[in-house]
Amino acid sequence: MWTPVAEILVLVAVWVILLHECAAARKAEYDAVIVGGGLTGLSLAHQLKKAGIDKFVVCEGSSRLGGNVISRKMRGGFLIEQGPNSFQPVEEMLEVVSDLDLSLVYSNPKLPRFVYHGGKMHRLPSSLKDFLSPSFTLLSGWAKARLAIGMVGFRKGKPHTDDESVKGWFERNLGPCVYAKIVEPFVSGVYAGDASRLAMRSAFPRIAALEQGPGTAGILWGALARARQRKRAKREYQLPSPPPRGALASFEGGIEQLPRALAEKLGRKACRTGWRCVDIAKDNKGGDFVTTFRLPFGRRRRVTSKVVALALPAHRVSGPLRHLVPEASELSSIPHPFVATVALAYPDDAFRQPLRGFGNLIPRSEGLRHLGSIYASSLFPGRAPKGWQMLTNFVGGSHDPAAEKLSNRQLSRVVDRELRKTVLRDGYRGRGRVLGVKRWPSAIPQPGQGHEDLLSRVQAGVSRHVGLFVDGSWSSGISVGDRIKAGKLLAADVLNAVIRKRFERQ
Ligand SMILES: Cc1cc2nc3c(=O)[nH]c(=O)nc-3n(C[C@H](O)[C@H](O)[C@H](O)COP(=O)(O)OP(=O)(O)OC[C@H]3O[C@@H](n4cnc5c(N)ncnc54)[C@H](O)[C@@H]3O)c2cc1C
Repeated sequence: MWTPVAEILVLVAVWVILLHECAAARKAEYDAVIVGGGLTGLSLAHQLKKAGIDKFVVCEGSSRLGGNVISRKMRGGFLIEQGPNSFQPVEEMLEVVSDLDLSLVYSNPKLPRFVYHGGKMHRLPSSLKDFLSPSFTLLSGWAKARLAIGMVGFRKGKPHTDDESVKGWFERNLGPCVYAKIVEPFVSGVYAGDASRLAMRSAFPRIAALEQGPGTAGILWGALARARQRKRAKREYQLPSPPPRGALASFEGGIEQLPRALAEKLGRKACRTGWRCVDIAKDNKGGDFVTTFRLPFGRRRRVTSKVVALALPAHRVSGPLRHLVPEASELSSIPHPFVATVALAYPDDAFRQPLRGFGNLIPRSEGLRHLGSIYASSLFPGRAPKGWQMLTNFVGGSHDPAAEKLSNRQLSRVVDRELRKTVLRDGYRGRGRVLGVKRWPSAIPQPGQGHEDLLSRVQAGVSRHVGLFVDGSWSSGISVGDRIKAGKLLAADVLNAVIRKRFERQ
């Protein structure tokens, strides 16, 4: 029962919290303030801690850390991913995994990928030889010949512009048929994007770099040179189970195990949630930064620090930087289309064939609304109970902005209906079990033509302020591995700036 004693206790508790916060505010002086508690911010914080810096704080605007990474255990023994489903176990990721004493789970690298075309599911070959084989019927003989001569560097032609589109690049190198049937759905799968509007060098820098030099240099030679380099590079991080070649990775409890473990290692004091950054300014002396946060219940908090690093999505950067770096407002022009992830489960006997594979991609020309499906229960163990299969499906993207208007129920109905065309057997009458629908109003940045110039202008503005850093999936790669790597690279810059500022004061 609510008594005057309870009332007094609550008042005392509130008073103690306020006193504690005021005291913290007065002496708040950090080496580094990290704004954004997604993978980039947490990876940066982890590397700073490893380097011996401990006067830093990660400030996350929402009530949870991890950003786009959301893994949920559902009733009935399902585990769904509502953001990323898997990642490549790149070197920097292996380092962090080893630091945190985590264990990765790997997909079987031989799991096939499929493209749905002409009402049929086509298994994608895993080697160039198999692509060219007569048993691969998705491509015509001419398309295969065009692919082969393009790979070795003939018929390449010249790019029409210096900042070529993804569509232009692949059509020039591999031919229009390979583009339409394989690359276009692949781009939908990675970016939920429109390949004719994405810039090749910004969207796929590693693939773009395979096209070496002028003349007949084909991407095959670039790929071979890279494979040789990779062989020479020795893995530094010894894990109990190193990744099999070509495997994708996750964790037994889903990808969110990673941000949780990072946050735990950083400690509660180093991570604040519910702290939304609204402004960054310089202090009176012009050396340190004063960062203002909006806290729950309308409270505000100002924090001073030598360095501020923003690890935010593009459209969240311009607000806090509107005074210091007006150029950052340009970042809001980077399109981020709506995407929904729809996790559906079906019993084993609902499928045409046993659900085995990484998943499928659907070219826009097929007239289906969903972009493709990841066969989540086939990819990693422990995603669905025995007798069930689970798929993560994607709807929306640059080609379908109207998808945002669909309710969650409509989104899952669309996917359930369309899966009958792609993977479910004819005559299956059951409804898919809806495990979760997650709406991403601004899912993935779409670096278009002129993106590199835009980044240079923003970086020029940022570098006017020693100790200010900005990074995100819009600038250094969208994949989970890219974000972990970006955090590590950023940490080196932050560390230098902290040391420089400490030194200047002595
Ligand atoms: C649907 C979907 C599927 C994906 N699938 C894959 C995949 O399978 N494989 C893969 O490798 N990658 C995938 N990605 C990409 C990958 O998940 C992201 O690029 C990565 O998680 C981004 O991490 P980040 O830390 O840079 O940004 P975010 O995860 O966006 O983190 C930024 C954080 O900053 C916080 N924030 C925003 N504004 C403020 C503010 N003013 N003050 C304080 N905090 C603020 C946000 O709340 C957020 O927590 C996917 C992404 C999406 C959306």
